[in-house]
Amino acid sequence: MEQGLLRAEQPVAALLDVTGIRASATALRDAFAAVTAAPVLHAFAVKAAPLVPVLALLRDEDIGAEVASPGELALARAAGLRPDRTVLDSPAKTPAELREALELGIAVNADNPQELARIDALIGASPTRSPLGLRVNPQVGGGAIEALSTATATSKFGVALRDEGARDWVVRAYLDRPWLTRLHTHSGSQGMPPALMTRAVGAVYELAEEINAAAGRQQIDTVDIGGGLPVNFASDEQTPTFAAYARLLKEQVPGLLDGRYGLVTEFGRSLLAKHGTILARVEYTKTAGGRPIAVTHAGVQVATRTVYDPASWPLRIAAYDSKGRPKSGAAVVQDVAGPACFAGDLLAEARPLPLLEPGDVIAVLDTGAYYFSNHYGYNSLPRPGIYGFTTGPEGDSATRFATVRAAQSLAEIVAESGGGQPDALLTR
Ligand SMILES: *Cc1c(COP(=O)(O)O)cnc(C)c1O
Repeated sequence: MEQGLLRAEQPVAALLDVTGIRASATALRDAFAAVTAAPVLHAFAVKAAPLVPVLALLRDEDIGAEVASPGELALARAAGLRPDRTVLDSPAKTPAELREALELGIAVNADNPQELARIDALIGASPTRSPLGLRVNPQVGGGAIEALSTATATSKFGVALRDEGARDWVVRAYLDRPWLTRLHTHSGSQGMPPALMTRAVGAVYELAEEINAAAGRQQIDTVDIGGGLPVNFASDEQTPTFAAYARLLKEQVPGLLDGRYGLVTEFGRSLLAKHGTILARVEYTKTAGGRPIAVTHAGVQVATRTVYDPASWPLRIAAYDSKGRPKSGAAVVQDVAGPACFAGDLLAEARPLPLLEPGDVIAVLDTGAYYFSNHYGYNSLPRPGIYGFTTGPEGDSATRFATVRAAQSLAEIVAESGGGQPDALLTR
């Protein structure tokens, strides 16, 4: 508030805690270094925070990128990520995307037999440095959020390992392709208990052992265990930790971590969520049916999942006054609403908070992944500015902000909404 980041003309903004992101990257590296001596590539799942300066910050922390679309690959390259620090997943890669990845030497995990056939043809035409793998679905079951569970019996991702004939087909596919050296699984995201994630990794490790035994050599040298570590949205505590998950893997799947297998990880939410905050001004307050409602500038455009599925994605909200000081006062049950024109656009329903007033500020906590960075263009609401912050060294407590992404202008909204061709539909 002091530095004017949030003001009447810019009523919503997002913050990223640069020091916190670095600390999470260090915790991730240390967690796996403590359980295996083999090389580990930590590839950040770009979809969790598709922002070039964030990818560059993570690159500086020795974290690579997991990309799943041409756009995400372009972001990773713009952030200076080298091909050997980049992994391409996605269930719908086109021939052109595959060709580009193989030309660049980016690791590719094929999703299905048809994609593997395309890779066969590309490799036949010109050799590649790309490490190549196959994604399998160990079908160990889903977590608490169906839409984010990718190891269910009928998930759309990877080769469903327990389907009839599938396992034999996979083993044969490796024996026929000596260049297929990786196995990949990602069993789900938020809502997956670490024990279930570990079962999925264990199933993939056993498959790797079976394939290597059948090949009579260590054909599979690297296992990509995906991401998916859940985030605690209920308090400031960061649980489960990367260290706890790595220890669980060491305990349950020791053979994977005895140094024979390199690893790739693809964490997204667990690296970033805790380090992002949305700030929004309260524009108006009112009551309806006896319930107080604060109408703010943060809603479905920056918190899409929470608005559409509030039971699965509850978010903590902190209340501040117009100067940015924590608000005190008795908790009053109230709704915190967004600016969009539909009734469900609520960040919190019946939430006890100090009674909000016009000009107050709310902070929406733990929104560093999959929230403001994954904008939803409802009501042509602009993408808010995103600012990374650090505080000075000891003795200098000034907060410094760096623009990660400028707020979207109205001219940009018009341009991306066909503003360059207003007469396109008028010719008879
Ligand atoms: C989404 C995704 C991830 C990251 O999941 P998080 O829950 O953000 O850690 C990793 N790998 C793949 C293949 C994904 O689709």
